[in-house]
Amino acid sequence: MEPPYRAWLEVDLGALWANYALLSARAKGEVIPVLKAEAYGHGALPLARFLLGRGVRRVAVATLGEARALRRGGVGGEVLLLGSLHPLEAEEALALGLVPTLSTLEAARALAQRARALGLTPRAHLKVDTGMNRVGFPWREALAALRAVEALGVRVEGVYSHLATAGEDPSFVEVQRARFLEVQRALGPGYLYHLENSHGLLLHGGENARVGLALYGLIPGFGLRPVLRLLARPTLVKRLERGARVGYGGEYVARGGEWLATLPVGYADGLPRGAVRGVKGPDGSLLPVAGRISMDQTTVLLPAPVDLGAVFEVVGPDFGPTGLCALAEARGTIPYEVAVHLSRRLPRLYLLEGRVVERVE
Ligand SMILES: *Cc1c(COP(=O)(O)O)cnc(C)c1O
Repeated sequence: MEPPYRAWLEVDLGALWANYALLSARAKGEVIPVLKAEAYGHGALPLARFLLGRGVRRVAVATLGEARALRRGGVGGEVLLLGSLHPLEAEEALALGLVPTLSTLEAARALAQRARALGLTPRAHLKVDTGMNRVGFPWREALAALRAVEALGVRVEGVYSHLATAGEDPSFVEVQRARFLEVQRALGPGYLYHLENSHGLLLHGGENARVGLALYGLIPGFGLRPVLRLLARPTLVKRLERGARVGYGGEYVARGGEWLATLPVGYADGLPRGAVRGVKGPDGSLLPVAGRISMDQTTVLLPAPVDLGAVFEVVGPDFGPTGLCALAEARGTIPYEVAVHLSRRLPRLYLLEGRVVERVE
C-alpha cells in the first residue's frame, strides 16, 4: 500500500542488518551500533528496538537525553553513554541504568557517591586518550586511573579509546593502536576493550568496534548500502509562462512552457541548500531543481506533467547524485553532517522485506 503522506522518510531495516552483518564479519569481536544524534538522522528508537531485538548486545548514544528517550521508548537493554560523563549527570545515568563513560575522577566520584545514596552498583567504561586530546584519561596514566576509579567502588566493565585520523592518516592510526595495545597489556583481561570506529574497522580491521556511519551504509566501496530514502509527492504541478521567476530571489527564469513541480520538503527537512543537484522523478530520471531550495519547499522541472500522487525520490539509498554522500560532497562537508540534519518532522517508515514494520509520525 502506498503511504498516505506527501513527504516521508523510509529506512530499510533489512539493509541496515546487512550492513551490521558485514561489519560484524569484519570485526574479530563485538560491533556496538552507535545511535547518537537520532541514529545519524535515521531514528534512534526504532533502530535500537530492532537491533537489540535481533540479539545485538548493546547500543551507544552520546547524551543523557538520547539515552532517556530510549528508556522512555521502552528500550531496556544495555546502553553505553559515550562522551564523558559530567558529574551533574551521575544520578540520572544511574537511575536510567546506563553505562556511562568516565574520563575524570570528579565524574567517577560523583557516580560512586550517587550510587551509594541510591543503593545501586555504579558501572562504567573508562575512556583513554591515545592521541585525540578531547576526552579520556591520558594513556600513560590509564592503569593509575583504573585503580583509582575501581577504588571508589565503580565497576569498570570496558576500556576504550577513539581514533582521530581513521580514513585520513593511517600512520597516526597505528600510533594510537600501539598505545591502546600498551594500555591493554597494562590493565590486563576482564574488560571489554574497544577502539575502532567505522573507518578504523573498514580500513584496518580490528577487534571490538563502535560503528555509526558504516552501519547506515554511508561509506562507499565496501559493499555497504545506504539505508534511507526521502520521498515526496508534489503539492502543485504547473506550466510556466515565459519570463516567470521561481522561488526566492527569482533565480530561475522560465523560458516558457516548461513543467514545474513543487515538492513539500526543503532545507528544514535536511536538504543542504545549494547542494542538491537534482531529484529523481517518478520515472527514475534526474530532474533539475529550479531556483533556490526554500525552508519547506523545493521546485523541480519536469519533462511532462504528473499528478499529485506521483512519488519523487529526493534522497536516494545509493551513492548516486541524490545519495547522502553526494549531497555532502556537493555541500563541501562530511556525510555525518548531512545525515544528522535530516528532518525530525517528516513521518518515517521502517521497512523489512518490503513491509512496514514500524511507523513514526
Ligand atoms: C560517534 C562515535 C563513534 C562512531 O563513529 P563512526 O565514524 O560513525 O563509526 C564511535 N565512537 C565514539 C566515541 C563516537 O563518539
